[in-house]
Amino acid sequence: MTAPPFETHDVFNQSPPYVDVDLYASDQPLQDAVAANGDSADASALSAFGRRWGTAEMFEQARLANENTPKLKTFDAKGFRRDSVEFHPAYHFFMAQSVREGLHASTWQPDATPAPAPAEIARAARFFMAAQVETGHLCPITMTRASVAALAVEPALVQRLLPKILSRDYDPSFRPWWEKSGMTLGMGMTEKQGGTDVRANTTRAEPAGDGYLITGHKWFMSAPMCDAFLVLAQAPGGLTCFLLPRFRPDGAVNALHFQRLKDKLGNRSNASSEVEFTQAFALRVGEEGRGVRTIIEMVQLTRLDCAYASAGLMRMALAQALHHARHRSVFQKRLADQPLMRTVLADLALEAEGAIALTMRLARSVDLAGADAGEAVRARLLTPAVKYWVCKTAPGFAYEAMECLGGNGYVEDGVLARLYREAPVNAIWEGSGNVMALDLIRALSREGEAARAVLTHLARETADLPGTAQAAAFIAAVLTDAEAESKARAAIERLALLAAAAALKASVPQHVAEAFARTRLQELRGRCYGSADLAASEAKLLLERALPIA
Ligand SMILES: Cc1cc2nc3c(=O)[nH]c(=O)nc-3n(C[C@H](O)[C@H](O)[C@H](O)COP(=O)(O)OP(=O)(O)OC[C@H]3O[C@@H](n4cnc5c(N)ncnc54)[C@H](O)[C@@H]3O)c2cc1C
Repeated sequence: MTAPPFETHDVFNQSPPYVDVDLYASDQPLQDAVAANGDSADASALSAFGRRWGTAEMFEQARLANENTPKLKTFDAKGFRRDSVEFHPAYHFFMAQSVREGLHASTWQPDATPAPAPAEIARAARFFMAAQVETGHLCPITMTRASVAALAVEPALVQRLLPKILSRDYDPSFRPWWEKSGMTLGMGMTEKQGGTDVRANTTRAEPAGDGYLITGHKWFMSAPMCDAFLVLAQAPGGLTCFLLPRFRPDGAVNALHFQRLKDKLGNRSNASSEVEFTQAFALRVGEEGRGVRTIIEMVQLTRLDCAYASAGLMRMALAQALHHARHRSVFQKRLADQPLMRTVLADLALEAEGAIALTMRLARSVDLAGADAGEAVRARLLTPAVKYWVCKTAPGFAYEAMECLGGNGYVEDGVLARLYREAPVNAIWEGSGNVMALDLIRALSREGEAARAVLTHLARETADLPGTAQAAAFIAAVLTDAEAESKARAAIERLALLAAAAALKASVPQHVAEAFARTRLQELRGRCYGSADLAASEAKLLLERALPIA
């Protein structure tokens, strides 16, 4: 349909919408990373996924899910408690899509053991593409897949839950989980007085019959319409993990009382609640006093998803910027042909190359961890480093990509504004930046020889790339430094960049890996994108890899 003309002017020099794209086939760095990390046989299914998620319809549903935010219904018309949250149909649409694709559980087998390789990389690539389109709904999708890792300490319980968790049916009805065709799970750790320091939790758990009664509050508990939540509470034996379902075993609604939904900067399609528990029924997960140990198994996996999603946000921001620059002319020349804009775009493309290669290589380590002790330590060390660097890079990256679209980037009609508002949360939740840096220092000292072996390996893998030897030496020096804690950010960033260089070296043309190492590890780059010293030939290669020229 042709739009009716304006009386005063013609519309021209605007880029067409970036829709109806194959999010896989149009992304050479992703294809390279998937192939290098063991999932090349999946290419046509990934491409089908990329086409489904890249349609105009998907982008439109994402807009609707974020403009029509969830609403808390605390009471009904007669004053009875309802404690339910209403979502726009577009949110349910995405939940149904992601559950059907298995993003919520595809890495688990029916006996609660991890599915064999390449299950993690296959899901990571899909999660990365889904995040480019709609990120808010991925919160319960992430928590559901990760919860199995914590629940696995209770074999009888997890065997009861798994058929519902593994189901590819999304069932949004408000009924007990055992009556539904599928279920989702959330997590409640953070209280008003502390989120990082969960040992300060004041929520109490008293043994009662087969379970416990939980009394207290959570200051952030996202996706409140999940069927059950893993929560931390103080039991007689100390801080303990519990499974707190929406319904009690007798079928009555459990005592979760939602106080408010957070009014958030981004992540608007997802609801994040403040909740009180007044003697809510729960089942213990793991021994009393081992709550952190138990739930950390879940958090290790949610941290991966933060990184996959942030890399996805970066990819979409880059694609939007590049697409626009190829269609928009300024001073009779397309933006994408202006030398300075090319440097900015190429610098962004190089950063995205690093984020994609790094996250997919980490997925490979997770895939191999069960059978290869070296890869298990690599996954343990690099999970905080990758979460730190990729999630912290995404907001600034989205901002620069937004500027490539000029004023159009800043308004809500396009997707850049939403990507920008979405980006910071992945760095804040599931362990904020400092927490990741301290976690790395802890892991480096705990893993001892094995950690040093990972560093040696990374140095060897990148031996012919500029700046990598100095980065490896710096990280090793921090390890033995009495002031290690205060230098932890410098070390974690270097480790992520070194690991990104290694991942690039194994998956992309040598030029790209060299440009990344030179501009990120060897040379002093300015603080803004576009200040890296990239040759015109390097920029050309990076921009062609980033998005095929139509
Ligand atoms: C949108 C959204 C949804 C959320 N959903 C959930 C949810 O579903 N379930 C849930 O349990 N939580 C949820 N959270 C909470 C989130 O996990 C916490 O906000 C986060 O863990 C940080 O905790 P805090 O807010 O209490 O900050 P604090 O713990 O007070 O931390 C503040 C700052 O101090 C830093 N810091 C902490 N310790 C140290 C240290 N030793 N040295 C140096 N710096 C340090 C942190 O890195 C952080 O930057 C959500 C948060 C958001 C924003």
